[in-house]
Amino acid sequence: MSGNSVRLQAITSVEAYTPPAASFTDTEAPGEVFGENVFSRSVMQKRLPKSVYKSVMATIEHGVKLDPVVADAVASAMKDWALEKGATHYAHVFYPLTGLTAEKHDSFLEPVADGTALAEFGGKTLVQGEPDASSFPNGGLRNTFEARGYTGWDVTSPAYVLENPNGNTLCIPTVFVSMTGEALDHKTPLLRSQQAMGGHAKRVLTLFGHESPDNIVSFCGPEQEYFLIDRHFFLARPDILNAGRALFGAKPPKGQEFDDHYFGAIPERVLGFMMDTERELFKLGIPAKTRHNEVAPGQFEVAPMFERGNVAADHQQLLMTTFKTLARKHGMEILFHEKPFDGVNGSGKHVNWSLGNSELGSLLVPGDTPHENAQFLVFCAAVIRAVHRHSGLLRASVASATNDHRLGANEAPPAIISIFLGDQLADVFEQIAKGAATSSKGKGVMHIGVDTLPVLPTDPGDRNRTSPFAFTGNRFEFRAPGSMQTVAVPMVTINTIMAEALDHCATTLENAVAEGTEFDTAVQNLLTEIITTHGAVVFNGDGYSDKWQIEAADRGLPNLRTTLDALPELVTESAMDLFEKYKVFNHREMHSRYEVGLEQYALTIGVEARLTCEVGTTSILPAAVRHQTEVATNIGALKAAGVEVDTAGLAEVTEPLTALRAALAALKAALAADPGETALAEAEHAQKELLPAMAAVRAAADTLEGIVADDLWPLPTYQEMLFIL
Ligand code: ADP
Ligand code: MG
Repeated sequence: MSGNSVRLQAITSVEAYTPPAASFTDTEAPGEVFGENVFSRSVMQKRLPKSVYKSVMATIEHGVKLDPVVADAVASAMKDWALEKGATHYAHVFYPLTGLTAEKHDSFLEPVADGTALAEFGGKTLVQGEPDASSFPNGGLRNTFEARGYTGWDVTSPAYVLENPNGNTLCIPTVFVSMTGEALDHKTPLLRSQQAMGGHAKRVLTLFGHESPDNIVSFCGPEQEYFLIDRHFFLARPDILNAGRALFGAKPPKGQEFDDHYFGAIPERVLGFMMDTERELFKLGIPAKTRHNEVAPGQFEVAPMFERGNVAADHQQLLMTTFKTLARKHGMEILFHEKPFDGVNGSGKHVNWSLGNSELGSLLVPGDTPHENAQFLVFCAAVIRAVHRHSGLLRASVASATNDHRLGANEAPPAIISIFLGDQLADVFEQIAKGAATSSKGKGVMHIGVDTLPVLPTDPGDRNRTSPFAFTGNRFEFRAPGSMQTVAVPMVTINTIMAEALDHCATTLENAVAEGTEFDTAVQNLLTEIITTHGAVVFNGDGYSDKWQIEAADRGLPNLRTTLDALPELVTESAMDLFEKYKVFNHREMHSRYEVGLEQYALTIGVEARLTCEVGTTSILPAAVRHQTEVATNIGALKAAGVEVDTAGLAEVTEPLTALRAALAALKAALAADPGETALAEAEHAQKELLPAMAAVRAAADTLEGIVADDLWPLPTYQEMLFIL
């Protein structure tokens, strides 16, 4: 009987499985395939008339509006290129508020009057599409009678051909907006925020003597963590299959952290998978660097090279899709969930952020001259000001039911958003602050424009892994984003709050200069003002410590522990005014993000609660009952034979079994209760009623896992899932 359990079948199947070989050939250099499937600049340069190419480049580099005539020429070249690559369809790819990727596929062939079919793809089709938007979340932005959404080509993110055994598709990255032009996606606000920030960054640069610098954009290098488990186990775990995380599972008997277990070589099978993913990503022009992550067993990391923010965001989504497909090809399932295994480290997605352009590089690199350093310090100070004023918004940008398991759990930065500057830079800012207080020229007091900064290493050794927002030599690393989420949301927030901070810097400097203040003095005053007003957000200590929680409260830094604490930050008057001022979101759009955030939260926990109920009732309870029956039968038989018996074994299983029954009944009742109509009521019900009820079921079930006979236990265990690859 027991030998047929799904779990034991899974174990047998894993043993019998032979993974495919990686498709990288020995003779092929990675560089050979790089960008093979991308309608890249070099492809455009070759295939487009010179004037058209120049016009497209002007749009990409300088934000010049796209000429419709140009669109026709590009469409025609793009179509020819895609057909040569074997594409039969094209798709506008967009990023709805679910955080996933959506595509609407259309055939290149359109029937014409004489009964034949022609490959049809003009400028209009390239530039705009009209997918039915009614099934995407919109948070009240759209009525059903205006269900149409419009996709619009993002010229700055290259089109590519996605291969599939059933036919290739030309994919065009697009924005997705409602009939009224309101954003229904994550790309639209990202482009808007980039534009807002870029404009004010240019004002600052102009003050520092740069004449008409190229567009300033945000750069992003996302580090993606993930788990791999054998697909046989995945299929035997309805919770992981449907919710992406184990809703049950006792911690394995040996060391929760597994520190000693997994430092060694990458399993051969995983290596094969990594090589395949690398090859696919290269073909799509995604500059991946793959490597092993040593924190938890079965956990790995990939970090592509940084790119322009909106391109990095597109590539990040594409990377996740590619990884999912290829993991399956290699008989595994990839888990992007922030906390698939309770008690084992979770996964994040560090957003390495900076701003700049190809001519100037990152503006967060300290320079060699006092003048360059002053400029660098102004951009750094802008970050300090932005993060201090809007740490709540940053926290909200990473808020989700799934990321709540991770933030503040001593493996990820706390929910308190602070900045780590490193000793040297922190020291520089301390001196600047003192400079204002004493206005002396004494030792240790720095005057911008006069003294040279100490040489700052571009890759400082003193990394602080406990800080949510850390300066790392040429960028800031935002470590709080969850592994599953799109990087667009945190980037929209960073860009927007930076737009405000740079606006402040530019305006202050412009006014001071107009009033006759010397520029260097104006810069000095600005830096002093910022660091004295906003220095409280700088913290170089241990973010995991309890002491910091208390100190942060003293400093007045918000500590928004859960998603429901954080989401209201989106709809405060000041937040809505900020986003409206910089033309990133209007008030309605902000409300819609808030609503969708609540909806997604309630949905996620609702699904988990129903799964907990189902698996608890149909898998775990019966297994425990069988075990109880076996023990009872055994006791009865021994007694009948006149053997003296200890009945403790029966009590041992009966107690948690009774607890499990009670917890399941309570969970069912919570699921049946009417939470109320609003998204907020549903979300609050999920947090206050469902989560604790699920935890009680799990506690009883996990106790039973340590009691029930192994051959009766239905679910693959942590040890099996994490260590068999
Ligand atoms: P670590 O694990 O030490 O934080 P990684 O090398 O794994 O570093 O990842 C660093 C990421 O930061 C990479 O994606 C890299 O391309 C990116 N990065 C480097 N410089 C910048 C920059 N100026 N702006 C944005 N991202 C950057
Ligand atoms: Mg990192």
